Amino acid sequence: MINDAYAWIEKALTTIHKVDWYRSVQTVESQAGATIIIEGKSLINFASNDYLGLTGDQRLINAAIAATQEFGTGVTGSRLLTGHRQLHRDLELAIAAFKQTEDALVFSSGYLANIGTIAALVGQRDLILSDEHNHSSLKNGAKMSGAKVLDYQHNNLEQLRKLLEQNRLPYRKALIITDSVFSMDGDLCPLLDLLDLAEEFSCMLLVDEAHGTGVFGKTGAGCVEYFNCTGEPLIQMGTLSKALGSLGGYVAGSAELIDFLRNRAPSWIYTTGLSPADTAAALEAIKIVQIEPQRREQLWQNVKTLETLFKEKQEQFNLPISHTLSPIFCVPIKGAATVLTIGNQLKEEGIFAAAIRPPTVNTSRIRISLMATHTSIQLQKLVEILAEVIPV
Ligand code: PMP
Repeated sequence: MINDAYAWIEKALTTIHKVDWYRSVQTVESQAGATIIIEGKSLINFASNDYLGLTGDQRLINAAIAATQEFGTGVTGSRLLTGHRQLHRDLELAIAAFKQTEDALVFSSGYLANIGTIAALVGQRDLILSDEHNHSSLKNGAKMSGAKVLDYQHNNLEQLRKLLEQNRLPYRKALIITDSVFSMDGDLCPLLDLLDLAEEFSCMLLVDEAHGTGVFGKTGAGCVEYFNCTGEPLIQMGTLSKALGSLGGYVAGSAELIDFLRNRAPSWIYTTGLSPADTAAALEAIKIVQIEPQRREQLWQNVKTLETLFKEKQEQFNLPISHTLSPIFCVPIKGAATVLTIGNQLKEEGIFAAAIRPPTVNTSRIRISLMATHTSIQLQKLVEILAEVIPV
């Protein structure tokens, strides 16, 4: 039988190849860490979100094994229908204590946390104001909610104010959504100003702390802590899969908000709960983040070291590095094809870094993500090799 209805897929793939947007997955043959093995070759890993190097930590591994042995590999259904383990609730209470909120809710991924929360908070009669650099999960959550979505230029508070002045009134509820650390550029949102605007125009504010948690703030609680906004009327979302070395997402906020989400967030209600292993590993990670500030200190030391190394080389090689205050560094590269070639050259030289291009972002770049477990020799090697392979 021939059915023409699928012929478009081949054509679409051809187009994706033509514009150098085609993506493929690489198989990593080792544990995640500062060094990984791909195709038998050892590479220094600058493509990981494991900021504190916890994914390979024996304590997380032991917690995951113990939970699996006690409760099995899965939870077999939605938490509302099938029940959950005390571990799930312990993790939620640990997140709430860490973030100093009344309660928290754990989702099966950060992506699901964003889409489910936004869908629960707003609908067709409501308004969303969204930073144009927001993560895909915020953008798609906004789209899926059915609310009117207005994008504002990246971190442009004047434009956001204008949009609110011109559009807020006819809508019932309004929600501002933003990353705290923008995942592709590594810069931060102006959280205090956003809080002010939210109050002035009676908006809810959802801040995505995926890249902030474990990294920013005195106790590692995130950018909300870093900006001294703990306790402010905010909806904090985050992931367990980056600095916390596990899998899953969460929302932290008032007890009412969490109770409401438990009843209305479709991506929490209708999906299987987090596995015991992931839950236990994340719970262990939250403890470690708080009792071992030296991991965060080492990460920030690495950020400083890399900044210094880039500056030294910048004079020598005119490297166009853009960086603003986080463990995420970007080297802008013109053209999707060029960034791919550079990504491959880096790999040949022993460096694994993400070659990011449209449609993920508008402009191509090599994205470098630092970990506490990188050594200064590894950072030196990164800069030396970048200087060799990047066209001046
Ligand atoms: N928000 C941001 C800013 C992210 O970078 C990511 C992950 N790339 C997510 C949400 C989604 O988190 P998860 O990987 O847990 O689905």
